[in-house]
Amino acid sequence: MFLLVFLNCFNNSAIGQSEPISEAKTDKLVKQALANFRESNFEKSLIISRVALNAASNIKDPSLISRSYTIIAANYNELGEVDKAIFFYNKSLYYANKTNNDTIKYNLYNNLGNVYCFEKKQFDKGIGYYKKSIAYGLKINDLNQVYFTNVNIAWAYFDINKYDQGDLFLKYINTNNKKYGDKSTDVIVNMLNGMYSSYRKDYEAANEFFLKAIEAGKKTEEKSDLAYAHLEYSKFLNKIDKPREAYKNLTSYNKVTEDLYNEEKLKKASIAGFSLELDEYKRQIDKIENEKVEQYHSLKKSRIIVILFILISLILLFLIITLVKNIRFKKKHNLELLKAKEIAEEASLLKTQFISTISHELRTPLYGVVGITNMLLEEHKELSQSQHLSALKFSARYLLSLVNDILQINKIEENKVVLETLTFNISDEITMIKNSLSFLSQKNNNKINVSIDPNIPEYLIGDKLRLAQILMNLVSNALKFTKDGEVEIIVNLDRIEGKIYFLDFLIKDNGVGIAVVDQGKIFEKFVQVGRKDEDYQGTGLGLSIVKKLLGLFGSTITLVSDIGEGTSFAFIIPFEYDPEKTKNIIEEIEVDLTSNEVFKILIVEDNLINQLVTKKIIEKNNYICKVVDDGFGALRILESEEFDLILMDINMPLMNGFETTKRIRLQGIKTPVVALTAFDKDEITDEAISSGINDIIIKPFEPVKLFKIINYLISEAKNAG
Ligand code: ADP
Repeated sequence: MFLLVFLNCFNNSAIGQSEPISEAKTDKLVKQALANFRESNFEKSLIISRVALNAASNIKDPSLISRSYTIIAANYNELGEVDKAIFFYNKSLYYANKTNNDTIKYNLYNNLGNVYCFEKKQFDKGIGYYKKSIAYGLKINDLNQVYFTNVNIAWAYFDINKYDQGDLFLKYINTNNKKYGDKSTDVIVNMLNGMYSSYRKDYEAANEFFLKAIEAGKKTEEKSDLAYAHLEYSKFLNKIDKPREAYKNLTSYNKVTEDLYNEEKLKKASIAGFSLELDEYKRQIDKIENEKVEQYHSLKKSRIIVILFILISLILLFLIITLVKNIRFKKKHNLELLKAKEIAEEASLLKTQFISTISHELRTPLYGVVGITNMLLEEHKELSQSQHLSALKFSARYLLSLVNDILQINKIEENKVVLETLTFNISDEITMIKNSLSFLSQKNNNKINVSIDPNIPEYLIGDKLRLAQILMNLVSNALKFTKDGEVEIIVNLDRIEGKIYFLDFLIKDNGVGIAVVDQGKIFEKFVQVGRKDEDYQGTGLGLSIVKKLLGLFGSTITLVSDIGEGTSFAFIIPFEYDPEKTKNIIEEIEVDLTSNEVFKILIVEDNLINQLVTKKIIEKNNYICKVVDDGFGALRILESEEFDLILMDINMPLMNGFETTKRIRLQGIKTPVVALTAFDKDEITDEAISSGINDIIIKPFEPVKLFKIINYLISEAKNAG
């Protein structure tokens, strides 16, 4: 038989004592299977190797799996199932390649070489395997094994009469025979030398080798080798024309093979006996194999899942970290923004409060100054020529306009100004402005010319107060900066879009003019250009108020000016034209002022000057009037006296106007209360309403407006009562 080699036949160091028991047990099983194979107990060997394969698969040890498969393959080979043997050798090779164990690979290639050369008779393929086997043998430096394989190769070549190719291997065998050869190789090596000598026609030597081979063959148990020796010797004797000897050897060959055949038959019989069982083993082995493949795939899958899981976890972790960082950053950022916003709001609130407090504080004394100046001028007509008095009046009015301007700018900047819808006649408005500025025009010897487009309807709807303010500012500027000249107010109808009429205003003078470099600046706050003090005392706020008010109308101002030539300001404002709406508005604002009754008014005021001024105004209208200094005084007097209306100051010591009114209402007194205050109306409206105040009048006030309100509230209260 050919030289089959197995791992662990010679070397079992691959599995050490320190290995886990299951591995050690499997290793033991493999060895048992091998021992049984060597003893030709193929059935038992197959059973044990199957168990070994199962165990090796469970512990996923490719080396043990490969060894189990090798034994299974060898068993099949012995049982004549060559294809099955090849199948299992290949399986074994698959697992061997998963290990670094070159010994297993060496053995397998050698065994595959045997099957292909001597069973399948595919010499090229077989020799290819042998050569691979030799390469591994040399790698692991197992020259003993290399020697065996060389024997196999030489025999294979000689078998197909390729003596020259086989010669190389025979030489190697002969050189290393003493070192690696043994009894089992002696028969074949001598036979091969005999064959080669016969080929070289060295008949004498050949004869000698054959005889040695037969002699050695008779001493070994491997009878098939002896049979081959007889066969080859017989061929040789036939060649050298010794038919009788040839026949004798052929007979010997036949006898040995016959014995072997009988043995084979026995084997075959036993195979037949358990072939069914073998098939069952094979099925089970296949099943194990399939399970292994499945396990391998599921392992691969679960590995992929684990890797994916780790990857996803990492990505999630990364996202969470970024999210947390973002949130923290945003929180910080938001906090900073919120802080900044709070600071800005606080600053803006402080500014507003500051301005409103200052203007309140200023308005109150100014109210007194203006009021008393007026009283002086009225009561002492002889003083009307007094320069001091007129200077006082001028200064007081100037201060008042400054305070009002600042307050107005502040209100616009705080977006507190909302345009109102009032009905008006454009000619009337402009005439009123012209009249109120007549003093200024006379002062500089200017003429005011008004030109109004006849296409403009008689009544328009819009915020006439803001329009008047714009015009007053521009016209008064024109009058101030023009001497002995002309100021023109021209209003044209620019266009009509539905109910909206766009009026084109032009305020033109032929005064000093504005230098081109200054033209951009003059709309800024507190900017005055090249003014001499004695000339004019402006606040520098007029044009910025104009610009801001025009902004409320959605309009812009254009300026054309030349030094010495004059200045013109132009802008367009849209107004609504709606006769029906106009009628309604007029009806709404109609107030009955026909009453001739004498009303009794209570003035609650802590400031003595203001007490004086208000009392004078009230009494001038022939109303009866009583004054108290504070809220407590008011509550006291109301216990015993009835009044038609109460004028209530808001900013009073001890108890303010709101509180006083609340207490008055708690007493069940329904007398209308009008707050008379220097506060800005919008600021106090809510609190005023909630404390029971009926209306608010801002100081300094137009007396007519005060009486309109007084009459209206009293008539309403009487109607209700
Ligand atoms: P003020 O209240 O001091 O007049 P304005 O904002 O109204 O402030 O005007 C700013 C400056 O623009 C004035 O000081 C003046 O120099 C210039 N100005 C405004 N209108 C005219 C004009 N019609 N002619 C010449 N200069 C003007």
